[in-house]
Amino acid sequence: MTTTHASRSDQERTLLASIPAGLLIDGQWRPASDNGVLPVTDPATGEVLLEIASATPQDGADALAAAAAAQRRWARVPARDRGEILRRAYEAVVARTEDFALIMTLEMGKTLAESRAEVAYAAEFLRWFSQEATRIDGRYSVAPDGNSRLLVTKKPVGPALLITPWNFPLAMATRKIGPALAAGCTVILKPAALTPLTALLFSQVLIEAGVPDGVVNTIPTRHAGAVTGPLIADPRLRKLSFTGSTEVGQRLLKDAADQVLRISMELGGNAPLIVFDDADLDTAVNGAMLAKFRNNGEACTAANRILVQEGIAPAFTERFVARVKELTLARGTDPDATVGPVIDQDTLDKVADLVADAVQHGATLAAGGHTLDRPGYFHEPTVLTNVPATARVMREEIFGPVAPIVTFSTEQEALELANSTEFGLVGYAFTSDLNRGLRVAEDLEVGMLGLNSGLVSNPAAPFGGVKHSGLGREGGREGIEEYLETTYVGIANPYQSADL
Ligand code: NAD
Repeated sequence: MTTTHASRSDQERTLLASIPAGLLIDGQWRPASDNGVLPVTDPATGEVLLEIASATPQDGADALAAAAAAQRRWARVPARDRGEILRRAYEAVVARTEDFALIMTLEMGKTLAESRAEVAYAAEFLRWFSQEATRIDGRYSVAPDGNSRLLVTKKPVGPALLITPWNFPLAMATRKIGPALAAGCTVILKPAALTPLTALLFSQVLIEAGVPDGVVNTIPTRHAGAVTGPLIADPRLRKLSFTGSTEVGQRLLKDAADQVLRISMELGGNAPLIVFDDADLDTAVNGAMLAKFRNNGEACTAANRILVQEGIAPAFTERFVARVKELTLARGTDPDATVGPVIDQDTLDKVADLVADAVQHGATLAAGGHTLDRPGYFHEPTVLTNVPATARVMREEIFGPVAPIVTFSTEQEALELANSTEFGLVGYAFTSDLNRGLRVAEDLEVGMLGLNSGLVSNPAAPFGGVKHSGLGREGGREGIEEYLETTYVGIANPYQSADL
């Protein structure tokens, strides 16, 4: 099943040869039931990196059968032991940082520095939830009328289907698997078809860390809907956690209604980044660079619209454009690269179309603006100024290294512009006025706000959105609740027949 290239470095070839290329079902690696394969390509070259097994609906059914069979046993494993397994997985991921970073860069395109940062972030979910496993508790109380006793406990929701996107191949898996395993749920992981290699390597690490057979089942596939549809319709599945586009999330929400599945949805974004006149200029420029160009701009949290108040706009734009011009677009494995290729031809075409549309509507190209004429999917880091509200780039998720800048005059206008979207994942505000920052925090329709910060992702914090950006939270104390069910036992007054 392996396809590697002589042009690759020894390190790359050795790593690719070590990736388990099968499906993980009930603790065994196996080929697809129809021997079908999924080629995984390198966005920096367009070359096939590896061909792996592509799950069929039959494989999906086997994965669910394994997860359902293992559920009761896994739920009874002491929380401390479940936590210890996650802790060992954390240690193993950190120890293999370079392998995980390289495989992510090869299949997703981001720079090695970005991939290393993702490994650190992703591993923290395992450490955080290794600790949360032991803090699942309940309560015993006396009802207000003094009669009934109320016993409230938490138990795992049950087998969970976890569907992840390609842009953070490791972190999106650990952000779901960490809390699911900590809570005592078994899982079926369906990674994105574009970046399944990281998920396969991670699954192997989980097995080595002591995850019992059937508790984690990993099924990459070319046929996402055909494989996951029957699972979502099956009453043995009790939870669906999805991270991806709003469009697919909405479809899955409808499908999940039939079984009244527990749902977590982490969907698309259209983040506003607001720079007020009273902002510290360096902080704002640094924050905007991070919020826009982290992960090649391919992040649900990426600043999609940069709104700058008129007084600071000339200075901000000049510095921001100068910084963007310093970025180096190259293969992610190139040590000089600060921005890598986007994930595929469709994404490259979409980003180029958005830039062309904005220019057609009157925007000014202040930096970049072009695709590179070479193999792979490279788009220059780009800044657009004077972008009119009618440009598509203001409404659609860009998912690429393009920064549109718009000016505003009042706080009220900024908030109206920022909220004029169906999305509500994250926003960013730069101001040195604390009260203004707090007003923005209260009035912006988002699940998360970066205040004088271009980065909000933190394993100890509840990540998630409002409006079309999703339902539920991942990470923080809230993250494990998504995988827990509350049970209440009503108990008769123990004193009612006592002769006291
Ligand atoms: P996508 O919706 O195309 O795919 C996401 C996952 O769903 C993949 O595993 C894909 O194979 C699977 N999928 C696609 N169609 C399916 C179907 N019919 N049935 C079942 N599964 C299906 O999204 P993507 O392009 O992989 O990721 C980019 C999107 O993800 C962006 O919109 C981004 O904002 C969003 N995202 C959100 C968050 C968040 O936490 N809110 C994080 C990362 C990415």
